[in-house]
Amino acid sequence: MNDILPEVSGTWRYLESILHEIVQSYGYAEIRLPLLEYTELFERSIGEVTDIVEKEMYTFLDRNGESLTLRPEATASVVRAGMTNGLLHNQRQKLWTSGPMFRYEKPQQGRYRQFHQFDVEALGYEGPDVDAELIIMTARLWRRLGISRIELQINSLGVPESRLRYRAALIEYFNGVKSQLDEDSIRRLEQNPLRILDSKNPDMQAIIEAAPVMLDSLDEASKEHFGELQALLDAAGVAYTINPRLVRGLDYYSRTVFEWATDALGSQGAVCSGGRYDGLVEKLGGRPAPAVGWAMGMERFVALYEACGGKAPPRHADVYVVAVGEGTLTRAFAVAEELRDRMPGMRVDVNLGGGSFKSQMKRADKSNAAYALILGEQELKEKHIGVKPLRSEEDQASVALDELTATLEKKLNWATGYPTQN
Ligand code: ATP
Ligand code: MG
Repeated sequence: MNDILPEVSGTWRYLESILHEIVQSYGYAEIRLPLLEYTELFERSIGEVTDIVEKEMYTFLDRNGESLTLRPEATASVVRAGMTNGLLHNQRQKLWTSGPMFRYEKPQQGRYRQFHQFDVEALGYEGPDVDAELIIMTARLWRRLGISRIELQINSLGVPESRLRYRAALIEYFNGVKSQLDEDSIRRLEQNPLRILDSKNPDMQAIIEAAPVMLDSLDEASKEHFGELQALLDAAGVAYTINPRLVRGLDYYSRTVFEWATDALGSQGAVCSGGRYDGLVEKLGGRPAPAVGWAMGMERFVALYEACGGKAPPRHADVYVVAVGEGTLTRAFAVAEELRDRMPGMRVDVNLGGGSFKSQMKRADKSNAAYALILGEQELKEKHIGVKPLRSEEDQASVALDELTATLEKKLNWATGYPTQN
């Protein structure tokens, strides 16, 4: 579990703001959800025979003896919230949510026990059009941020009936090579053979490579759905490869699954993954409703952005107020309040804790402010303030207090809008 420190939190906030901007531009609305749910919700949705439910959940009994779990992902909670709040009753919903998720994993680069996801879910939509929209949206995100080292893989898992056929084919195949399977896979062979394909064990990869593929067992309607998705992606200019081994780590997927992966982050390359889960609402006790969504791993997203040379936009629209001498602090506070009123979003840092002119100027310099605003007893008397550039060769100026905003607006090119992400 990591602390996200001030030196990187600016990048986080910037990337979150871009995500907000993009999902909003596609008409998705925010839903905020609790971090705790009844354990049963995840057992029923994610599936009992999955890595998450078998090994990764933070589960405990509350004071009332009820089993609760810190959410390992958001989709189940979105569906639960949709049902308990009547949002799915003859309605469709396009929603997004974000926040920490918890999984008891072996911590390593790109894999943490508390990590963060940004989730987008479309509930009540059946067609491949929404699958395409959700993917096109993520392609826009990479373009918007200049991220190029990322590739899209897609697959279709069909409907439950075709999955049963595939399941039988897999059981037959894996039984034939049973002596070479690891312990997890042998256990999964009877209960959930598809999960074997999701194994992270390198020794298993060759056997998995040679296994039958889902696309051969696909039903006609799913084939058509998958074909239309591809046509829409082609038309939108979104490149992809079809990966018939892509099954994803959760049980509830049907038809479309996809994953955006990068080679820039070592072995934890999956940055954004998603898929369709047409059976989940019904499985959780609701009236049947199709649904599809994706989740972005924020830690990996931030790391990828940085690996591609991305930085949060610099913040230069800020000032540091230096106050030296009798009565100057009161004036400094008043000036700062007025600046905050008139130039909202600008960082106005007032020197706190006193100090000599020299030590205050040192702090001003360290603060990365563009200008120091200097108030001494002389300035106080004359109702002036010193405006000293800290990052340019410009001359220091003495400005009448009632002209300060206008002067700063001009100097900081305020009208053109400086970034205010931080
Ligand atoms: P992986 O195959 O890497 O274990 P997953 O299939 O378990 O991923 P999902 O449950 O689909 O992942 O979660 C969506 C995204 O969340 C992943 O693509 C990844 O970017 C991120 N993610 C998942 N688990 C972690 C983790 N423990 N730490 C950081 N990010 C994670
Ligand atoms: Mg995992």
